[in-house]
Amino acid sequence: MRWDAQRLDADDDAMLPGMPSIRGLLRSIQVPEFPRLTFHEVRARSALNHVPGESAMPFPWTINPYRGCSHSCVYCFARRTHEWLEFDSGRDFDTQVVVKTNLVEVLRKELARPSWQREHVALGTNTDPYQRAEGRYRLMPGVIRALAESGTPFSVLTKGTLARRDIPLLSAVSRDVPVGFGVSMAIWDDDLHHALEPGVPTPRARLDLVRAVADAGLPCGVFLAPVLPGLTDGVEHLDAALAAVAAAGATGVTVIPLHLRPGAREWFMTWLGRAHPHLVSHYQRLYARRAYVPAEYRTWLTERVRPLLARHGLDRQKGSAARGVDAGIATGVPGDEEVGFPAGSLPTGGLPGVRPKGKAAATTPERPPAVDVEQLSLL
Ligand code: SF4
Repeated sequence: MRWDAQRLDADDDAMLPGMPSIRGLLRSIQVPEFPRLTFHEVRARSALNHVPGESAMPFPWTINPYRGCSHSCVYCFARRTHEWLEFDSGRDFDTQVVVKTNLVEVLRKELARPSWQREHVALGTNTDPYQRAEGRYRLMPGVIRALAESGTPFSVLTKGTLARRDIPLLSAVSRDVPVGFGVSMAIWDDDLHHALEPGVPTPRARLDLVRAVADAGLPCGVFLAPVLPGLTDGVEHLDAALAAVAAAGATGVTVIPLHLRPGAREWFMTWLGRAHPHLVSHYQRLYARRAYVPAEYRTWLTERVRPLLARHGLDRQKGSAARGVDAGIATGVPGDEEVGFPAGSLPTGGLPGVRPKGKAAATTPERPPAVDVEQLSLL
């Protein structure tokens, strides 16, 4: 398999000898600026993915410019979606990135349909839209402009500090449409960060992103996620994290314990056995029956977090801000529907075009294809 070959194929559904069966593949390339990464450039047939109606997600539509993610988080549970492309969910997920090169063009066509209801579109719900590939392909500015010009409210969730590039644009369009912005971070120990999130900008860099978003006058919710039992759930660690998040100007915080779905579980447990073997049996007990931690742990963590939120003034924010892990909620986050989105991470500006998930649109819009569950992962 020659990944550095410049492959071109004008036909949709191209399946080249020795290549994974990626629909719409145009070419697969490696470039010196992005060592170890292979970009599979495809022509996408659709840009908007519809979230199934029974989902608790507070957004009806998602966009994912990329599949696979160079941020390479060991605990990422979008990993399994890569197997649908005949890649593996480990190293291939980290290094074989599918790029929807015609995303903006397709999106503009979908947004121009008379049936488009201008419902909330979420970005960053499966893989990170500001991963390294975005530095080369620059899809997000076109996506942001297309959504804003169509009057569509949207939200972005990311760990990528590349998002700083688009803050002026986000700030400008937020005068026309409601915009939500969320940053995911939970690990403050540098060694742990390098081990578990090797491709992600440092926690300090992500705090700077929160600060820059807030300084631009935009809301910015922080997902303190994932909290790792026995590793990052100590009072000292949580206190330092919440203090830093508050000081950076976050508009809300949601604390989410690690969940281990198939696909992520295997990779995480392998790492845990290597790095912290004494914790393996603890995790096996916690996650014995399901992907989420049991209610006892959840309650324990809530009690631990509550006074810390109060100490840092994160329990006095408006709207849905600063929820503890068990706080009452109207909307669930991907992968953990028992907690809510932090204030600022959803486009709830009271402007036209935002309707709560679950409230029916006036008419049934014509829905683009590609409805699947890929959008239900969390950064
Ligand atoms: S958790 Fe998010 S940032 Fe990390 S690899 Fe998965 S999609 Fe990328």
